[in-house]
Amino acid sequence: LLIYLDGKFVPKAEAKVSVYDHGFLYGDGVFEGIRAYNGRVFKLKEHVDRLYDSAKAIAMDIPVTKEEMTEIILETLRKNNLKDAYIRPIVSRGIGDLGLDPRKCEKPSIIVIAQGWGAMYGDLYEVGLTGVSVCVRRNAPDALSPNIKSLNYLNNILAKIEANEKGGDEAIFLDQNGFVCEGSGDNIFIVKNDKVFTPFTISNLKGITRATAIELLDEMGYKAIEANLGLFDLYTADEIFVTGTAAESAPVTKLDGRLIGTGKPGPLTMKMVEAFDRITRSTGTP
Ligand code: PLP
Repeated sequence: LLIYLDGKFVPKAEAKVSVYDHGFLYGDGVFEGIRAYNGRVFKLKEHVDRLYDSAKAIAMDIPVTKEEMTEIILETLRKNNLKDAYIRPIVSRGIGDLGLDPRKCEKPSIIVIAQGWGAMYGDLYEVGLTGVSVCVRRNAPDALSPNIKSLNYLNNILAKIEANEKGGDEAIFLDQNGFVCEGSGDNIFIVKNDKVFTPFTISNLKGITRATAIELLDEMGYKAIEANLGLFDLYTADEIFVTGTAAESAPVTKLDGRLIGTGKPGPLTMKMVEAFDRITRSTGTP
């Protein structure tokens, strides 16, 4: 496996970064998670745009253009002969000293890792995930907005640990006011009385799969309504599904010990899973 590391492709075993890199010392950097299906990269432009928006939000200039970044990503796939892959571009603040001042870091480091990948949740697409609402809260929509896909994923990791300990498959984040935000690595939709709702993106990562899901729902004749949702709305929903690059589109059939709807993946959720399968295998950048 060859990893792109600051202008060169190096074998996996040699792909190492400095202990003085602020990505390592402070989680100071940004990243993306992208999928390729059958030799085509899904929503590549959207992911590259979001990477640059994340960098902008943390006042970091990525030292290559978007066009160059796009080419680096595609070249990483080609070099590794990968057709179905998960791609992880990372831009860290770069090498500095032990102080946190980013002005000490001369230049951001760019890393792109790609590896073979299948669907994340295996059998759970048929039976549904068990969700757990967690006590760690999602970041507030201030300067450290959840819209930044930063290398500092500690609250998502704490959420995951809590979900693991409670026997769940995915954590459900609430914000400081108790409104539902998202999962630890995916966005949330609920279906109630044949209407579809999803939280506003102020409180979560603006998921590229979420946007795709909204388009697919539109084609099916459903208008996804952005709303403030509470746990009550989730517990009493007919269906819940989550969307994300890694998870794709996956049903949640249990939450905090309650069955959601019938406790089986609902009809609209299953249509979404199929529609998502279709679109990821028929579009994308070759
Ligand atoms: N929310 C969080 C916290 C994530 O890390 C991700 C994954 O990237 C998502 C949502 C889903 O976003 P996307 O569909 O763009 O992968």
